[in-house]
Amino acid sequence: MHFVAKVLPILTMPTPIHRVETDQPYICLTFDDGPIAETSRSWLELLAQTDSRVTFFDLGKNVLAEPELAKEVHAAGHEIGNHTMSHPHLPELSFNAVRAELTECQQLFSDAFGAAPTVFRAPFGEHSDYVWTVLKELGLPSILGRGHDDWSPNATVEGITENYTKGVQAGDIFILHTWQTKTLAAMPEMIRRYHAQGFQLVTISELLAAGQPVYV
Ligand SMILES: [Zn+2]
Repeated sequence: MHFVAKVLPILTMPTPIHRVETDQPYICLTFDDGPIAETSRSWLELLAQTDSRVTFFDLGKNVLAEPELAKEVHAAGHEIGNHTMSHPHLPELSFNAVRAELTECQQLFSDAFGAAPTVFRAPFGEHSDYVWTVLKELGLPSILGRGHDDWSPNATVEGITENYTKGVQAGDIFILHTWQTKTLAAMPEMIRRYHAQGFQLVTISELLAAGQPVYV
């Protein structure tokens, strides 16, 4: 009696990148939903003071509303990723609507910044088959990472500082929000702690180039 193992093809959906396995002391802070007139220049000042570079997953509609500010952020050396035109719940959209959200954003940023983004973040972290199909067309990886609810109405400066600085490992990617003034207030102490632990802040492309992606 003998068993023949039947290996069925496993049709797995792609998954987002959660972190990067790297031997470099790199971590990546990502900020979603900008540019924002009320906060983006404060971010630029703070990041310049601490010699930090980060990644902003911008919205097309906000770049249209604040084109000069968007260019200022990019010119300061930060990476800009695609976060769709209007921040919809992508799984609720038709294929054509998903494609428009992603490709219009890609084109707009390419025109605004001189090069198309090479990374994407899904609004609300939500994907569908259509999203993966369009990402494949555009050659974009979807980036998630460690989120600790800095967007929550219950978030506090102290809580954000603690949650985003404990148990940090090289290759971690953190999800934060450009509009969150509590995160802005937490950031000097967060950066102090990252540096004290020996970590360097790099952009998402720099992090991806320094190791192997780990998928969700
Ligand atoms: Zn968002």
